[in-house]
Amino acid sequence: MNIQQLKGIGEKTAALLSRLSVYTVKDLVGLYPRAYDVYEKPVFVQEAVEEHASEIVSIEAVVARNVEQYSTPRMKVLSTVVRDEQGTSLKCTWFNMPFLRSSLKPGAHYVFRGQLAKKKGSFVLEQPQMYTMAAYAQLQGRMQPIYPLTKGLSNKTVAKAVKQALEKYDTCLEKEYIPVDIRSAYQLAEHNFAVQRIHFPQSQELLRQAEYRLKFEELLGIQLAILSRRVTRTTAADGFFFPRVGEFFNGFYRTKLPFELTGAQKRVVKEIRADTVTGHQMNRLLQGDVGSGKTLVALMAMLLAADNGFQACMMVPTEILARQHFVSITKMVEGVGVRVAVLTGSTKKRERDGILEELASGGLHILIGTHALIEERVKFDNLGLVVIDEQHRFGVEQRARMWTKNSRPPHVLVMTATPIPRTLAMTLYGDLDVSVIDELPPGRKPILTRHLYDSQRMKLFGFLRSEIARGRQVYVVYPLIKESEKMDYKDLYDGFETMSREFPLPQYRLSVVHGKLPAEEKEEGMRAFREGTTQIMVATSVIEVGVDVPNATVMVIESAERFGLSQLHQLRGRVGRGGEQSYCILMSGDRLSREARARLDAMVETNDGFRLSELDLKLRGAGDIGGTQQSGTAFELKIASLAKDAAVVEYARRAAEEI
Ligand code: ADP
Ligand code: MG
Repeated sequence: MNIQQLKGIGEKTAALLSRLSVYTVKDLVGLYPRAYDVYEKPVFVQEAVEEHASEIVSIEAVVARNVEQYSTPRMKVLSTVVRDEQGTSLKCTWFNMPFLRSSLKPGAHYVFRGQLAKKKGSFVLEQPQMYTMAAYAQLQGRMQPIYPLTKGLSNKTVAKAVKQALEKYDTCLEKEYIPVDIRSAYQLAEHNFAVQRIHFPQSQELLRQAEYRLKFEELLGIQLAILSRRVTRTTAADGFFFPRVGEFFNGFYRTKLPFELTGAQKRVVKEIRADTVTGHQMNRLLQGDVGSGKTLVALMAMLLAADNGFQACMMVPTEILARQHFVSITKMVEGVGVRVAVLTGSTKKRERDGILEELASGGLHILIGTHALIEERVKFDNLGLVVIDEQHRFGVEQRARMWTKNSRPPHVLVMTATPIPRTLAMTLYGDLDVSVIDELPPGRKPILTRHLYDSQRMKLFGFLRSEIARGRQVYVVYPLIKESEKMDYKDLYDGFETMSREFPLPQYRLSVVHGKLPAEEKEEGMRAFREGTTQIMVATSVIEVGVDVPNATVMVIESAERFGLSQLHQLRGRVGRGGEQSYCILMSGDRLSREARARLDAMVETNDGFRLSELDLKLRGAGDIGGTQQSGTAFELKIASLAKDAAVVEYARRAAEEI
């Protein structure tokens, strides 16, 4: 039913409502209040000024004086004094409401409800609404909805429209759709009852019941969708078979693997092998802290695909990372006979044409690349496995597009170093099987983290010199919130200048890398650092993910207060990759917000990615975890919060399984 069928909603209001994505009556009743205004029992003036200064208060009183009216250049002001039963007076003022004058005769008795403020040392009740005792008694205890609004749209208009809509909605629009046994098992109020109450609750308790029901149904919908996808996947018998362990896998494992796999890596490889012989599509999430050796596991899975006559690809979020994986993987499989290539947005046309041809003819076994892999023209001969590294950087849509690159869906392995709290994982990745690498390669020493203020910079330089003198290398990273912001580059270039002055040629050499550089210069900067030609890498957070230079032992993060926790942890993970003691130094300004301080303290205190991500969830809420893409494209939550409603997520999951 179109929204304009409601009385009082014309074209103009409809246009305003459309900005809130409200087009139909059903949308309107789905526009839940963001807060409630509660009509409390009136208080005396004394109590109001002592306990509710600068709040909205209701006071029962009589008008004690003739109204004064005066004008300022901007407005007309009415002012009077009211007195309550205890005999205490309070000044009241109204702006631009001259028509109230006639209601404000001395002796008139009302409940005055308005904002209490302190002006020039004395209290004033500003812009109070007036209610007769009877009218207020009707409202008292009620909660009035406060809606999300847009400019030009008043709360009153929305509330009125909702009230009207609810009368119709109750009879014609929505039937209860959660089965009665689930409703009684989880003590859920009825749908229509909850919708009525969420808009106009008569008490806190009813509001709580309504919220619980609506959160539950929202989360139940998501869980049902997730589980049905999973059922479809695990019952469809169209998964590729990888039964063979052949010359590629064995060649690598026996002759090239430079170290023993950790127990956790072995376990995950086994899990992947088991998944790929069931006849169903694998859809596995591999979680492992930074530096736990996920790339190696991915490589072995890709070799397994190649052994069985399939192609594999690995999609990563940045060009730098793609090239680095290409370099290290090419080196690791040298002489094994697998063909590997890298494809990014900046791959030159001639080279790209060659790669695409080899890909389509089946000559290429492994393709590493960025988002460029998703493009239509990238056609595989027989894609059997898709690996997605640092998957939190990709949207759900982007991941799904890779599924369509073969006539039957390829196996999928997504990897992340951003550990996800349980309730979030259940919702965001509920249809994935999860593997965890919970063990770091042997010989790693925990990274020591320190927090220094900008004023202690000399101390920092001294420390860097001593580390470099011992043959170590150093990252200095500047925040880059948006690639386009000039400010950020200014910080980077100023920083680079300071570093060049403090660490001059010929003794010291610096690389500088950021997102705006042409691909070759980026690669050149990375290569020089990887090969140890330069000792200091000055960079933006483009190096956040995946960069692997074991000889680098110091990570300096400038303006660390501007980074989120998971980003700080990712950056820290760039060091501590060799056997040497590594350090992470968080530089910040002297004045920090409470939240920023909490983040930096947490970093100093722990290296445990899971603990940090739990804390991150608490500090920021779920929407932001690991970037906004994943929650944004998957679904919008209207009322439930993955961060705050953990228990409801669990219930909804259980109910979905029962259904
Ligand atoms: P991440 O899980 O962060 O992607 P990487 O795959 O980049 O980690 O591995 C981090 C480093 O650890 C690399 O230098 C890699 O060669 C090394 N590595 C991986 N597995 C092992 C192992 N079993 N023993 C020793 N070093 C390992
Ligand atoms: Mg990695």
